[in-house]
Amino acid sequence: MSSYQFDIFGNSIPIEETSKNIKHGGRITKKSLFRSINGYKSGFYCKNCKYFRELRYNRKYFKCEKLGITSSEATDIRKNDIACNLYR
Ligand code: SF4
Repeated sequence: MSSYQFDIFGNSIPIEETSKNIKHGGRITKKSLFRSINGYKSGFYCKNCKYFRELRYNRKYFKCEKLGITSSEATDIRKNDIACNLYR
């Protein structure tokens, strides 16, 4: 049975397909490396995790304590990201 990740338009993408997006311009992003290590917990979302943080400056930013809270967009997550296996 395959697991799915939803994109911003609500389309489901098999998890195997998302691994194709690990490299961006020859670099591995911090978020994609974190996700490839910690996997996906189907049926759970980051917005319900105790490590999820919503920061407000000029706009809202969504961060994960486990991924790291920095001012870089490399550590931005989305509310509706499928949770990883560190989910609590
Ligand atoms: S589910 Fe994983 S990536 Fe999402 S907020 Fe929790 S620890 Fe971070």
